[in-house]
Amino acid sequence: MRLILFGAPGVGKGTQAKILSSKFHIPHISTGDILRSAVYKKTELGLQAKEIMDRGELVPDDLMLKLIGEVLHDEKTKNGFILDGFPRTIQQAEKLDDLLENLSTKKKLCVIFLSADDELIVRRLSMRRTCSACGNIINLNYIEDPSSCPYCGSKNTFIKRKDDEEDIIRNRLKVFHETTAPVINYYKDNGCVLEVDGTLAVEEVTAKIVEKLEKY
Ligand code: AMP
Repeated sequence: MRLILFGAPGVGKGTQAKILSSKFHIPHISTGDILRSAVYKKTELGLQAKEIMDRGELVPDDLMLKLIGEVLHDEKTKNGFILDGFPRTIQQAEKLDDLLENLSTKKKLCVIFLSADDELIVRRLSMRRTCSACGNIINLNYIEDPSSCPYCGSKNTFIKRKDDEEDIIRNRLKVFHETTAPVINYYKDNGCVLEVDGTLAVEEVTAKIVEKLEKY
């Protein structure tokens, strides 16, 4: 199975991709996570991407296409994958098609489009934190004790992504509407798009995705 989790930043792509990855035993590829790791390790890609990411803008297509080319030529993605955060431009979508055409398997590509309105996304993202001890992502709105990680119990280990500050979130949403949202029309014209309401509870979103995938 080849899935693309598509939607605005903060709509729940990463959360759903993780769940679906363990359910279907296919790797979750988050281009945002790959870039953040490159920034952390100060690789050449990381050094080029850091400031762009801090501003909430898109890393140039040439860098992203090189990155995704490497990912898709990796053995691990041979039997399928869940892409989270890619493609974000029409050029990326076209290049992805070229890459997949050159790979031997004939698995179908299906896009899961998670929808939510901007104000909900701003509220969600500004309360999003990562536990620096276990790496899990939580939302301060939904946990009882905001100083304690519900996954590993560590105290005061939450960190906020730089691009989860409100002004940057709004810029990321602007970039999404201007540049990334049109990509969905590319897929509507060229293949499978399954739309799911991203404002539902996490388990409900997963159930709807699975139901739609089964029907498809
Ligand atoms: P994410 O974790 O998916 O929200 O991505 C975080 C940031 O990484 C984005 O705001 C972009 O700056 C960069 N990024 C991730 N994926 C892409 C992509 N496919 N194209 C361009 N920039 C990307």
